[in-house]
Amino acid sequence: MGKGIISASLGKLLQARGLSVTIQKLDPYINIDPDTLNPYEHGECFVTNDGAVTDLDLGHYERFLDVPTSQANSVTTGRIYQAVIDKERRGEYLGKTVQVIPHITDEIKCHIKSLGSTGQYDVVITEIGGTVGDIESLPYIEAVRQLRWELGSRCAVIHLTYVPYLAAAHELKTKPTQHSVKQLQEQGVQPDVLVLRTEHPISQEIRAKVALFCNVDKDAVVQSIDAPTIYQVPLLMREERLSEVVLRKLKMENMPEPDLTAWTNFLEKYENPKKTVKIALVGKYVELPDTYKSILEAFVHAGAANECKVDLKLIQSENITANNVDKVLEGMQGIMVAPGFGERGVEGKIEAIRYAREGNIPFFGICLGMQCAVIEFARNVLGYTDSHSTEINPNTSQKVIDLMADQKNQLNKGGTMRLGAYDCDIKENTLAASIYKTGRISERHRHRYEFNNKYTEAFEKAGVVFSGKNPETNLIEIVELPAHPFFIGVQFHPELKSTVLNPHPLFVDFVKAVAAGK
Ligand code: GLN
Repeated sequence: MGKGIISASLGKLLQARGLSVTIQKLDPYINIDPDTLNPYEHGECFVTNDGAVTDLDLGHYERFLDVPTSQANSVTTGRIYQAVIDKERRGEYLGKTVQVIPHITDEIKCHIKSLGSTGQYDVVITEIGGTVGDIESLPYIEAVRQLRWELGSRCAVIHLTYVPYLAAAHELKTKPTQHSVKQLQEQGVQPDVLVLRTEHPISQEIRAKVALFCNVDKDAVVQSIDAPTIYQVPLLMREERLSEVVLRKLKMENMPEPDLTAWTNFLEKYENPKKTVKIALVGKYVELPDTYKSILEAFVHAGAANECKVDLKLIQSENITANNVDKVLEGMQGIMVAPGFGERGVEGKIEAIRYAREGNIPFFGICLGMQCAVIEFARNVLGYTDSHSTEINPNTSQKVIDLMADQKNQLNKGGTMRLGAYDCDIKENTLAASIYKTGRISERHRHRYEFNNKYTEAFEKAGVVFSGKNPETNLIEIVELPAHPFFIGVQFHPELKSTVLNPHPLFVDFVKAVAAGK
């Protein structure tokens, strides 16, 4: 439906009026977080600086607002229940029967109010996942009803609905909107603003009808029409005066008009590319591009920064073999190998990397993509033909990617994932140094395995440069090949930090190298 994009766009407009804004997502599923969900179930897991594994909507919030989110921005029913049950065990409910109302709803309200009480934000936008009528959503809607009552005009409710178009009748149908508003009203919540998702413009008559039947102001019926890019939605919402209506409901009037100059500059460049570059994204979840959401968006940002269109071709790594790699990757001017977990498709990734390395094609590997680059080099240059990551072959004689000793001890307890932001020192006079232009960076992680430092010397002798290291643990963060025009692999996830107004330098310089035909 696009609640995430509408939330992010509203946030952007409020921010562009000078307000400090954050956006929070409440997900009504029972998982504590999406960490254990299959990417096919859920798309990408977005990771915050503080190591929260969250829904991909948080990625949209960060890309739009350019403000980092945290664990407090991501709440699931699982987390709510866990908090309530922990309190119950600690005896904090003083012998009372613990119930959905008031205990679960109180916990939900507490999470909604917690970001506001930090004093950092003028406005907190809380997006509630799911749809009105879902059994899972009931406690959330009740929490909203109570918050409305408690906060009065300091709280506004926006409801997003879908307005289908019946092609045969040439007609937009508002009945589903009327029904879902009615259902919300039955649960005690009167929306202040309706955002109508539509493929065709919604006339003033229809808006007036919806306003009348749904009990909202006429100008509070706002259309959200399909846009060629999500990055146009803030401009469309500005035309619809969404933030103005919301501020009126919140009694925060007389705010300056939104200043979207930098945003429109980005769109201008994005919409008028001077050339096109073809880049392959080699991964195993290509049937569901949402798995690579942040990577796809980072390429949009980096493309605009280079004034070129990135024609990204998603390639199933399972289908790549030594025999067909040149056919499959023919015409690709740059090759990215994606992050991932498990064995499937790994050999194809390694073949794609060999093809990029030997053919001097710009290469950029992320997380598992970097690990595969290490394995490829070990096998084909160092001659360690059996080398592998112990994630995939625990019995390999050359464990070039392995668990660290302290992780091995903990593995029986469910394993440990390195999550969140860690510092990395950049070596001078390297590709990484020329890209980052600073000696110390911080990037986000989500992985278990690491480069095995036992092999550092052998790799260095053969021409690999380890240009990024964790200053505390000495773990390898960046590998590169100076003999190659552009070959870099990173253990972290730079895509998670790329935003519209701050495109990530690794993506920017990778696209630049591809465009230059290096
Ligand atoms: N599977 C690898 C690890 O756990 C890489 C993870 C990733 O690509 N995010 O280390």
